[in-house]
Amino acid sequence: MQRVVVTGAYGRMGREVLRAVWGADDKRLVGAVDAWGDGTDIGHLIGSGETGITIKNDLVSVLKETRPDVMVDFTGPGAVFENAKTCLRQGVRPVVGTTGLSAGEINEIIGISKAAGIGGLIAPNFAIGAILMMKFAREAARFLPHVEIIELHHDQKQDAPSGTAIKTAELIAGVRGDFRQGLASEIEKIPGARGGEFDGGMRIHSVRLPGLVAHQEVIFGGLGQILTIRHDSISRESFMPGVLLAIGKVINLERVVYGLENLLFEDF
Ligand code: NAD
Repeated sequence: MQRVVVTGAYGRMGREVLRAVWGADDKRLVGAVDAWGDGTDIGHLIGSGETGITIKNDLVSVLKETRPDVMVDFTGPGAVFENAKTCLRQGVRPVVGTTGLSAGEINEIIGISKAAGIGGLIAPNFAIGAILMMKFAREAARFLPHVEIIELHHDQKQDAPSGTAIKTAELIAGVRGDFRQGLASEIEKIPGARGGEFDGGMRIHSVRLPGLVAHQEVIFGGLGQILTIRHDSISRESFMPGVLLAIGKVINLERVVYGLENLLFEDF
């Protein structure tokens, strides 16, 4: 029975995580934190009766009072780095879904966790289908190295490109080596029209519209052929099996790892 605190509890993802952890037989929700924490019982958010767990605004005091095994963070790019470090300082394992951490910040969190021997996970995407999309994209890039990524999200998302797109690009870059695609110079009549260049001419394009949740296409071009690998999260429930799995697995890790795939596949 893992004891869990959820941070970002009022958010779209936070509410979904509260509901999932509250409903899980093998997990115990012990606390909820949000910058807007005002003592409201989480039962009002998840549609159950009173639970006795209220949303507070001070992460450190909630961690000290509730002594959780795991803190799940779905906050925002301005909060997540400090929250993850606070959590590790308190000896609590972070499961971070918030995106927008820089590569340097991710490495710093991993370094702190290694030194302290505390497990955890930073995952830009908790949907199992999205992990498979990334795995298949890396495989395809070995044979079809010309690739562009289009990620599509709801219009309230703060960071671009998405963490999933960056992770996908990192995996593809890892197998492409020094490969370079496209023209050496292009004329963009509207700045940004060709998207952001990740590496070797590989571009990432970010679409933001109401109605979208989290979607990504990885498009490979070859001689006379196109391969498109697409994943759609059509509701935030899609992330919950991955979040619950991660809460269970980080207990046995001795450092923070980056990417849910590390908990799913030995050979990813
Ligand atoms: P949201 O804006 O709906 O919710 C964020 C919540 O965090 C808000 O209630 C806000 O008040 C709270 N918050 C902000 N700063 C805080 C702080 N310092 N301490 C405590 N609470 C704080 O956002 P969302 O749609 O729920 O997304 C949250 C994050 O999760 C984003 O970074 C998003 O990109 C990411 N996300 C990740 C996945 C994944 O699978 N890893 C899936 C969906 C979204």
